[in-house]
Amino acid sequence: MLKIDNLQVDLGVDAGLVRAIDGLRLSIERGETFALVGESGCGKSMTALALMRLLPENGWVAGGDIHIGQGRDAVDVLGLPESQMRGVRGGRIGMIFQEPATSLNPVMKIGRQIVEAIEAHTPLRGAAARAKAIDWLARAGIPEPERRIDEYPFRMSGGQKQRVMIAIALSAEPDFLIADEPTTALDVTIQAQILDLLRDLQREQRMGMLLITHDLAVVSGMAHRVALMYAGQIIEVAPADEFFAAPRHPYARALLRALPGTHRRDSPLEAIAGTVPALTQAFTGCRFAPRCGQAMAVCAGTVPALESVSPRHDVRCLLYSGGARPAAPVHVPAGSATACAPRGERPAGPLLDVQGLRVRFPIRGGLMQRVKGHFDAVDGVSFQVGHGETLALVGESGCGKTTTGKAIVQLLRRQAAIEGRALLQGRDLFEMQGTELLAARRQVQIIFQDPFASLNPHMRVSDILDEGLAALQPDLTGADRLARIERLTDQVGLRRDALGRYPHEFSGGQRQRIAIARALAVQPQLIICDEPTSALDVSVQAQILNLLRELQRELGVSLLFITHNIGVVEYIADRVAVMRAGRIEEQGACEDVLERPTREYTRTLLAAVPRLQVA
Ligand code: SF4
Repeated sequence: MLKIDNLQVDLGVDAGLVRAIDGLRLSIERGETFALVGESGCGKSMTALALMRLLPENGWVAGGDIHIGQGRDAVDVLGLPESQMRGVRGGRIGMIFQEPATSLNPVMKIGRQIVEAIEAHTPLRGAAARAKAIDWLARAGIPEPERRIDEYPFRMSGGQKQRVMIAIALSAEPDFLIADEPTTALDVTIQAQILDLLRDLQREQRMGMLLITHDLAVVSGMAHRVALMYAGQIIEVAPADEFFAAPRHPYARALLRALPGTHRRDSPLEAIAGTVPALTQAFTGCRFAPRCGQAMAVCAGTVPALESVSPRHDVRCLLYSGGARPAAPVHVPAGSATACAPRGERPAGPLLDVQGLRVRFPIRGGLMQRVKGHFDAVDGVSFQVGHGETLALVGESGCGKTTTGKAIVQLLRRQAAIEGRALLQGRDLFEMQGTELLAARRQVQIIFQDPFASLNPHMRVSDILDEGLAALQPDLTGADRLARIERLTDQVGLRRDALGRYPHEFSGGQRQRIAIARALAVQPQLIICDEPTSALDVSVQAQILNLLRELQRELGVSLLFITHNIGVVEYIADRVAVMRAGRIEEQGACEDVLERPTREYTRTLLAAVPRLQVA
């Protein structure tokens, strides 16, 4: 259905010419799901954009061919005039993007948006096109499609919007579908439904599908074949079961070992040192060599080619050139088979005791924005966090986990009415004033999901780290503060010269290290970590989780870890509390909740989590 041959895509940037895709070759058959995986910036989304001829303004195809279809039906995508390409885009190739909210037109009824696609790419018009749109909404799992076809996107949930996107993409019955991170923005239960739907529709339509994602567990449940990209090139391509059972390339093996879960709980995750190389350079050796644990002298001076190690399994690595060498399987258990192990002795009694926490936001309306009612985002939540313990707060988006964290660190005092108690070593945080409150603020710190948004872009790292110290520990001299800041940069694994730089000069993982250093600067007893790794790649996530566990062991800090990633919970948490609609459904020791859940909701949530399916 699709054949890409030696594709090269260049981007013009300030630093020069970036070769974003370098010699990409792949072919996808009818009815096949082919997954393109890799960490951010490796070129997977750029491949999809090149396929649709939707490259950014500073990008162009510098070489190669893309063909869709076979025989007389075959189309040379790169050679078509733009007027004909419009028929291919959305007609023969459908596309689903990551963020359904921004992909739909907010001022157009959903029915109109589907009918537009049908009329542009099929002979159906008017009432027939509308009937077809209703049919597609029903097939995409939208309830009452006859009524809902006349609704605007804002009336739909995230999952429903993604279903509408799928209906639009498939309504022209394309030969081929590109799904670019189609479920990344969705909760796990909705993700499971959307993936099931895509699988069923693909089987029915016999489409070829290019699935682009960074989530290896999703790939293992969906794909027939997998290609792993690194620095603009495919470095391994294999049938999915073979790839997950015995990956060959050192990078593929390292990625699988970096995944968190119970099976890794008693040891640090194997993080991949270093970063992806800049693509502005001409490579004279293997692109992965500076990070490769198996690099040989020859790797620095020889560019490896993509070579077959077995039928349908190709690897770009000099370890395998001149004769296939078998690789030992990477052991990645499919489920949470091992019980979560307790870690070490800790002082008795809770450090934080939250009792009946209720956070009530006003609902405003009308010209004067008067209060018309209230909404309980958190509705009577109670839990405890022990000394040196990690409590994971899990649940789907909007369940109140972040609001709970923000309420404890007093970030919602002005916006919401807060009831209940949050006792820090027996003293109620919500009743504290003046110096007592200042001291308590020092003891409870928060790390946010997006490290970039939470760091002041106009301040140097040294000032960012010094700001909290100066405010919360005014008794320290400038020299004491500098000494502590330097120690902190060592602790979180940043170089000392980072202190003189600004946040934009760092990668996402480094910025999260700065945020962790800022939280640690005032020597807190409790850190609330709000999805600290969800914006990061697997290898960087491993570094941050290792760092948090190390710091916990060294300094004895307690963590309230807010996340929706069950693999992370299995790896880091001692206890788990499951939240739903502002309440705690179930809480207990990690192994009890995850292995023997008592509530139906917990069971549904855990069943929806994609797991690596290893043969
Ligand atoms: Fe590692 Fe060498 Fe293989 Fe590159 S070619 S992945 S450096 S062993």
